[in-house]
Amino acid sequence: MPEKPVPPILTTTAGSPWPDNQNSQSAGPRGPLLMQDYQLLEKLAHQNRERISERVVHAKGSGAYGTFTVTGDIRSYTCAKLFGEIGRTTDILIRFSTVAGERGAADAERDVRGFAVKFYTEEGNWDLVGNNTPVFFIRDPMKFPDFIRTQKRHPRSNLRSATAMWDFWSLSPESLHQVTILFSDRGLPQGYRHMNGYGSHTYSFWNEVRERYWVKFHFKTLDGHRHWTNQEAASVVAQDRESAQRDLYDAIERGNGPSWKVCVQIMPELEAEHTRYNPFDVTKVWPHDDYPLIEVGIARLNRNPDHYFAEIEQASFSPSNIVPGIGFSPDKMLQGRIFAYADAHRHRVGTHYEMLPVNRPINPARTYHADGAMRFDAPRGMDAYYEPNSFNGPVEQKWAQEPPLRISGDAARYDHRDGNDDYIQVRALFHLMNFAQRERLFGNIAAAMRGVPAEIVDRQVAHFARVDPDYALGVLEALAHQG
Ligand code: NDP
Repeated sequence: MPEKPVPPILTTTAGSPWPDNQNSQSAGPRGPLLMQDYQLLEKLAHQNRERISERVVHAKGSGAYGTFTVTGDIRSYTCAKLFGEIGRTTDILIRFSTVAGERGAADAERDVRGFAVKFYTEEGNWDLVGNNTPVFFIRDPMKFPDFIRTQKRHPRSNLRSATAMWDFWSLSPESLHQVTILFSDRGLPQGYRHMNGYGSHTYSFWNEVRERYWVKFHFKTLDGHRHWTNQEAASVVAQDRESAQRDLYDAIERGNGPSWKVCVQIMPELEAEHTRYNPFDVTKVWPHDDYPLIEVGIARLNRNPDHYFAEIEQASFSPSNIVPGIGFSPDKMLQGRIFAYADAHRHRVGTHYEMLPVNRPINPARTYHADGAMRFDAPRGMDAYYEPNSFNGPVEQKWAQEPPLRISGDAARYDHRDGNDDYIQVRALFHLMNFAQRERLFGNIAAAMRGVPAEIVDRQVAHFARVDPDYALGVLEALAHQG
């Protein structure tokens, strides 16, 4: 047998040698234990703190590292360095997740999937925090906490409530598009490798001459769409609650990590005033006929994290993280998330969460943010601890300011329903589905409506009828069939 190397010494968190890791210190062999056994206290106290609070949404997730490689030249639209010359490669991290289930929930559940990408670029981190669907349930962030409450547990029964979900959806018809996707085949992917990712929101690009374009991001699976039916998923969950984590982890260990073709849709800035739908409404897509997909690169995952907690549970993505050449848009949901995501991380992970290795940019971050939890570094030469200063501290970069955002109108609480059609694009999707896909859609909806009061079902079916009478009829038949 080869000789084993001498193992490293075990220490306290302060680095002092740890004398005994099997026996606590006691007054006599039968106890009691001594208050001075600091090693025991440290060990128990650390165990109590091994969990951080789980994410309020997207709690159950998986993730891996990889690369983004440019295959199409879009430098006429953006000066973002990561979209430079063909062949340029940027390291990425992608975290996938379900939305509603808690940290221990099963993977194979019907739910939207999170698809959050961190690009470690030379000009800072760009986070594209999207989903596997191109749209979302609501278009105003004022409604977000209420919507999420309907996906979580009832305060009294502590059970998920189909009544709450359909009550909210039927009173918020802007959700119809996303609801139709959720109950279609794509609402239950076989794993994270077999689904598309979408930035969902409209963002903007700006180029060297400071022209702005609106942009949507698409990640098209190169591993093929694969979905479970409800029945298949039930038997998967019965045997394996971690089916998506296992599928992704194993594929990468086998050297068979997934990849996606990354595409953009581009809209010239002023065209946004003339589209027949609001291009900043996240309940809408931009039809491909109007804005064709332009291929820009390939995203590929090839490395599992070494430590799930350190690198995935603490991975913190926020749409507020953009880089020069990429900007925001008036999309109200995006504007809400710009605040809410970074705020969630400051609360959940800690004030200086972006100093953690998984969140840290590859270029040095130099800020004037001061103290607070998790201040790991001790910057030298700290005479420049305010700004402006005469001590050679970091200085602002005016060139990085995006072009002015054109805004029209008065500040007011505009009714988000005015001028917004909630049915046309759902109809286009419904008409893409063949007979068998529609039958599964009807069956999935009927199954999810079990126990919902008739008044709420009727209100929702009326929305389906406005999309297409066949949609409503199909759901009614499926409801009758299930009894
Ligand atoms: P296209 O026929 O050009 O594109 C249809 C799109 O629908 C494709 O991207 C396809 O993805 C996707 N798709 C197919 N089945 C489903 C499903 N069950 N759930 C979600 N997406 C699905 O049509 P249009 O661009 O004119 O859009 C028509 C409708 O397609 C829209 O109203 C919208 O509901 C849906 N859609 C449109 C997207 C867009 O960005 N324009 C994006 C995704 C959906 P794939 O190519 O991967 O098969």
